[in-house]
Amino acid sequence: MSRNTLTAVNPATDEVIGQHEMLDEQGVRDKLDATRRGYDELRRLTVAERARKLHAVADLIEQRQADIGEVICREMGKKFSGVIAETKISAAIVRFYADHAEEFMAPKPKQVPGAQKAEVVRDPMGAVLGIMPWNYPLYQVVRFAAPNLAGGNACLLKHASNVPGSAKLITQLFHDAGFEEGTFTWLPVSSSAIEGILRDPIVCGVTLTGSEEAGRAVARQAGELIKPSVLELGGIDPLIVLDDADVDKAVEIAINGRFDNTGQSCAASKRLIVVESMVERFTERLVDQVQKLRIGNPLDEDTDIGPMSRKDLRDDLHDQVKRAVQHGAQIETGGQVLERPGAWYAPTVLTNVAPGNPAFDEELFGPVAAVITADNVEHAIELANHSPYGLGGTVVGQDLERAEAVARRLDVGMSFVNRPTTPFDELPFGGVKRSGYGREQSEYGFGEFLNVRTVYVA
Ligand code: NAP
Repeated sequence: MSRNTLTAVNPATDEVIGQHEMLDEQGVRDKLDATRRGYDELRRLTVAERARKLHAVADLIEQRQADIGEVICREMGKKFSGVIAETKISAAIVRFYADHAEEFMAPKPKQVPGAQKAEVVRDPMGAVLGIMPWNYPLYQVVRFAAPNLAGGNACLLKHASNVPGSAKLITQLFHDAGFEEGTFTWLPVSSSAIEGILRDPIVCGVTLTGSEEAGRAVARQAGELIKPSVLELGGIDPLIVLDDADVDKAVEIAINGRFDNTGQSCAASKRLIVVESMVERFTERLVDQVQKLRIGNPLDEDTDIGPMSRKDLRDDLHDQVKRAVQHGAQIETGGQVLERPGAWYAPTVLTNVAPGNPAFDEELFGPVAAVITADNVEHAIELANHSPYGLGGTVVGQDLERAEAVARRLDVGMSFVNRPTTPFDELPFGGVKRSGYGREQSEYGFGEFLNVRTVYVA
C-alpha cells in the first residue's frame, strides 16, 4: 500500500474537484486500533443510548440535505432532486432502526425442558466492513451502518474511490451525531487493501454492494476467514407490460424505472418485456417520451438526466450498445456518446432484443432501455426468469390480481406491481441467484452480523 490520493472528478464537466489522501499501512492499523476501542465503548452503551444517537443521525441528514446534495451532485452527477429523495429514504431507514432497536434486541424467553431460564439474546460481534458503491453514496452507507450501530457493532466504511468527498461528509455527520471515530470510521483505501483489513480480528464480517466481480472476490476472502458476508450485487431486472396495461402509465413507470439516476441503479428496470399485442404502442410512446427527457446540469431543477458517473463506465456502456447492435438490436433513439466535456450518454431505446443479445444477457449500467417482445404472458415470465440474476422485477397491468400473480412467479427478491422497484425502510431489499444473498432494510436487515446467543440455566 503506498501513500496515494483519491481524486474526485465532476462527471458533468471533467473538472477535478477534490483530492483526498489515502491511508498507508500504518494509517490502516491506527484506524483498526481505534475501532477496537470504539467497539468497546459502543457495546457498553444501552440500546436506547445507541438509538438516541441514530435519531441524531437522521435529524442531521435532514438538516444538511442541501450540503449533502451539492457534494453528491458534483461528485457523481446525480440530479439534485434525486439526492433529496436519497436523503429522505436514508433518514427514514436510520429512524426505522432507531425506533425498533430495543424491540429487535429484546431477549426472547423460551420454555425448554429442565431449564429454570432459557432465552435467546442478540450480541454484537465486532466491526462490520461495508464496501460501498458510488451510485447512492449516502443511502448505501446508512443501509449497512444503521442496523449495525443499533446492534452495537462498529462500522468501517470502504467507499467507492470516486466519491471521497461524500464519504468524508457522511463520516463527519455520524461523528457529529455522537458516533465518534472508532465507532464509525472511513477507510480511504483502494480495494487491494481489503483482504488485509478483513483479516484483522476486530472485523467480524463484510457487506458489499457492487458488482458481481467485486462480490465474488470479497466473499471468497471472507469465506477463507470464515467470516459472514452479505452481497447486494447487480441485476438485469425485468419489467413486464401485460396486455391490459394502460400504455401511458406503463411508459411512465418504465421511464422512472429505467432512467432514474441516469440508469445507474442496481434494481433499474433494465429489460422491458412487453407482450406482443402492446409492443408497438408501448415502444412508440416510450421513444417519444425518452426523446423529451431534458439532459442537463444535475444541479438545475428542470434536469431529467444528468451525466453518468465516470467516463470509463460511459465508454463501457457504449461498447455494450455497439455489441447489442452487432447482435441484431435496433437503436430507436440515442445510442451515442454526447460530445462535450464529462461522461454524457444519450438516453437510448433498443428494440429487437432477445436472449443471446448483450442488452438481454448483461447488465447495462446506464440510460439504455431494452425492449423485448413476448408472445404472451407465459412467454414474458419465461423471458423474465431467463437470467442468472434475480434482484427485483415489476409487472404493469390493470387487473391487479393477475399482475400480482405474475409478479409472484418472478425469480427475484423484490416483486413490484405498477411501480418500479423502490426502497422502503420497512421492506427488505436484496436479491436471489447471482444478485447476492442476505438482506438490508426492515427487520430482515437487522442482525445479519449479530451473534444469536442461546442462554440456558438448569
Ligand atoms: P464495483 O466496481 O463493484 O464497486 C463497488 C465497491 O467495491 C467499491 O467500493 C469498489 O472500490 C469495491 N471493489 C471493487 N472491486 C473490488 C475488489 N476486487 N475487492 C474489494 N472491493 C472491490 O461496483 P460499482 O461500479 O461501484 O457499482 C455498480 C454495480 O453495483 C452494479 O453491478 C450494480 O448493479 C451494483 N449495485 C447493487 C446494489 C444492490 O443493492 N444490489 C446497489 C447498487 C449497486 P473502488 O471504487 O475502489 O474500486
